[in-house]
Amino acid sequence: MGVRPRKGRSVMTDGVWAAPGRVNLIGEHTDYNDGFVMPFALPHTTVATVALRDDGVLRLHSADVPGDPVELRLADLDPGRRSGDWTDYSAGVVWALADAGHSVPGADIHYESTVPAGAGLSSSAALEVVTALALSDLCELGLDRPALARLCQRAENSYVGAPTGIMDQTASACCEAGHALHLDTRDLTRRQVPFDLAAHGLELLVVDTRVKHSHSEGEYGKRRAGCEAGAAALGVSALRDVPYAALDEALGRVEDPEVRRLVRHVVTENARVERVIGHAVAGDFRSIGPVLTEGHASLRDDFAVSCDELDLVVEASVAAGALGARMTGGGFGGSAIVLTEASRSSDVGKAVLDAFADRSLLAPRLFTAVPAEGARRLS
Ligand code: ADP
Ligand code: MG
Repeated sequence: MGVRPRKGRSVMTDGVWAAPGRVNLIGEHTDYNDGFVMPFALPHTTVATVALRDDGVLRLHSADVPGDPVELRLADLDPGRRSGDWTDYSAGVVWALADAGHSVPGADIHYESTVPAGAGLSSSAALEVVTALALSDLCELGLDRPALARLCQRAENSYVGAPTGIMDQTASACCEAGHALHLDTRDLTRRQVPFDLAAHGLELLVVDTRVKHSHSEGEYGKRRAGCEAGAAALGVSALRDVPYAALDEALGRVEDPEVRRLVRHVVTENARVERVIGHAVAGDFRSIGPVLTEGHASLRDDFAVSCDELDLVVEASVAAGALGARMTGGGFGGSAIVLTEASRSSDVGKAVLDAFADRSLLAPRLFTAVPAEGARRLS
């Protein structure tokens, strides 16, 4: 039996759901090239308290955004009429559901989140996935997790207008506690890879630089277009199809030097995902460190999406004895990850904080990331 919607404004709760943010261990800017990624879910979640209503109204409120609840008429939802504020993420999910033939009678949704927003930890996917899961459960839509992720990506691409890949939504919807998710973004094949760093005396620090450079969205679009130009120049449907062994030959066929660097990042980054998977499966977690640092150099020098603050986290942490570090997420600010011996973790963290203080930069926020479970119903 589905939950029967109430008349008009609802005062009762039909349920509570949670969806996590994520860090991406390796595989950056590969998800819109049909490539490989390896995120894991954070313990930080966006929680949605949801009650259905039957009057075609979507009433949205977030404890994390000042202001009164916002009421939208379901019949008015249209990408051409988006508001440009946070409610587009939720409205986009409901619009994408309707567009796929799944009708929602109306809902009151209240959000509360511990995922830092705009920090490269995917608060947007957490918001979308928790909305889609709650509505799918309440309306008995029977959507499986990969389908929910695709629907949320559609909401973000077509309604919010952000041309993101499929990684963030899949991570939030499909990750499992204690595991990283090896995802093939072409066919969405998933493999849960045991990832218990603590058992090996290791820690993964997330360093949120708390900066977001404003040109990031335009630059993201340019990188996407450049990757498509690279694939076209090489006669493949996506850069995923360029094997690492054929990289030098492929680079010789790309004339534009900027596009050539983008191609080199994507092809080597896909190979790095494979190397990290190999180390993780072999239980050789320490060997992952240098691969992360190599990935950072590629994002900094070839893909050109790093920034001074992210470079500083990597330099300071590696100089202080970390096994490896790299920016994570889209870049131009946001967060970096640092793999370190657990016994050195506080020294490494202090070295990063000192490096920022020495340059009079805003103090970053640090926390230890342990792979947590994906989206779920709480009550
Ligand atoms: P990221 O996904 O890396 O956190 P994005 O720019 O993709 O960064 O998404 C951040 C945006 O998502 C915020 O600016 C806001 O519009 C929306 N958002 C995320 N979490 C919440 C929340 N709990 N309440 C309201 N809006 C949120
Ligand atoms: Mg996002």
